[in-house]
Amino acid sequence: MRLLIFGPPGSGKGTRARLISRLLKIPVITTGDMLRGEVSRETEVGLRAKAYMERGELVPDELVIELVEERLRREDCSEGFILDGFPRTLRQADALDRILGERGVTLDLVLNIVVDPEVVVERLSLRRWCPRCGAIYNLKYDPPRVDEICDECGAQLIQRSDDREEVVRRRLRVYEEQTRPILERYMERSLVREMRGDIPIEEIPREVEEVLGPYLGNHLD
Ligand code: AMP
Repeated sequence: MRLLIFGPPGSGKGTRARLISRLLKIPVITTGDMLRGEVSRETEVGLRAKAYMERGELVPDELVIELVEERLRREDCSEGFILDGFPRTLRQADALDRILGERGVTLDLVLNIVVDPEVVVERLSLRRWCPRCGAIYNLKYDPPRVDEICDECGAQLIQRSDDREEVVRRRLRVYEEQTRPILERYMERSLVREMRGDIPIEEIPREVEEVLGPYLGNHLD
């Protein structure tokens, strides 16, 4: 199954994507994480992407498209994948159509997470991230067991520099201007299902199972 997860920053794309990945046994491809990895390894792509990311702007299309195209070529994507954070512009959406078209496959589903922007601003200011294993916490709604320490791997949690309020507001504007218009394309293809981004974290599994119901049949244990 090939699916996309859409929604503004902080809407809970990552949480849902990881859940779906476990249910359907397909990989999640998260362009934000891939780019953060490039930045911390100080690769050529990372050095070019860093300043855009710190400002809360999108990095140039060609950089991201190349990363995604290469990732989708790997064997673990042959049975499907979840794209989280891509495509974010019409050019990226065109590129995805081309990549899938070249393989003779299409998208099955686009999940759109709907959430109030003010909820996102509050949520992201409380978000903490594990730079070692990528786990995500929220100091109020989903705190780690030990203050500021990752439950999974014991590393010190950090706040992403782009989770500061003024950068979050810019990321939300960028989402409205550049990313939301892509949804129309997928609506025309009747691929879009909506999810509520403001439900408590413990209700997310049930919401995901409801929306994915028809696809889960032979994947549930
Ligand atoms: P995210 O973790 O998805 O919020 O992404 C963090 C930052 O990475 C974004 O603000 C962008 O600067 C960059 N980024 C992630 N995905 C993309 C994409 N598909 N196109 C352009 N920039 C991206």
